[in-house]
Amino acid sequence: MRLQLIPSAVGGSSQLQFLSSYLLNDELAIDGGSLGLLPDLARQRMIRHLLLTHAHADHIATLGVWLDNVFAEGNAPTIYCLPAVADALRTHYFNDVVWPDLQKLPSMERPAVRIRTIDSGETITLGDLSVTAVAVNHAVPAAGFVICDARATLVFSGDTGPTEQLWKVAAAHDNWHTTVLEVAFPNHLQSCANVAGHLTPATFAAELPKLPPKGQVYAVHLKSAYREEIAAELTALAAPHCKLLLPGEWIEI
Ligand SMILES: [Zn+2]
Ligand SMILES: [Zn+2]
Repeated sequence: MRLQLIPSAVGGSSQLQFLSSYLLNDELAIDGGSLGLLPDLARQRMIRHLLLTHAHADHIATLGVWLDNVFAEGNAPTIYCLPAVADALRTHYFNDVVWPDLQKLPSMERPAVRIRTIDSGETITLGDLSVTAVAVNHAVPAAGFVICDARATLVFSGDTGPTEQLWKVAAAHDNWHTTVLEVAFPNHLQSCANVAGHLTPATFAAELPKLPPKGQVYAVHLKSAYREEIAAELTALAAPHCKLLLPGEWIEI
């Protein structure tokens, strides 16, 4: 597998991550924060499957823009998410107010997007990948994903505070070596992180013993206002297998 954190800023080489979107191989993406900002329109059109962790704005900000960008009649991409996330999308996003209900446009038979719910613990097959959604510990219903191909397993936390079930499901896979784990706030905002369902470097460190000891951990979702502080606190963990995933960088899994 190959994974890229899609940059949030068009042009330039900002290391700040304002929004959340990731490409996985050619046809799959995770979250719709910056997906519609990919400069290469052909690349946007290749995405057939979108795994959506949750409905917070930084994860759906350009979802409708992307669907407009790739619209071709009879060629609808599918969004996969927890049932509660699908409800949120239908009620608050594809509600004919914030954005048209693209599930019924241009027609019910040939819509511009389909939403397919996955329960926590359910595994689906998308091409040569198997994907298991697992509910995590965030302020709103949210999922992480355990994604496997024939060679490797990638665990993607999404937005979460300290969590357990995701790691238990992942541990069933002997070839789990790579984890993409959020860390949103610096340590001095621990109480804020607790309320919001996010990690700080301190609670990020407390998750590490639950992960494969020699695996690679990529830290993501650093709040831009505190990026340098969070990065310094991660460095102070002296955990050489943990590094920041930089916008635009492709990693091989
Ligand atoms: Zn969130
Ligand atoms: Zn977020």
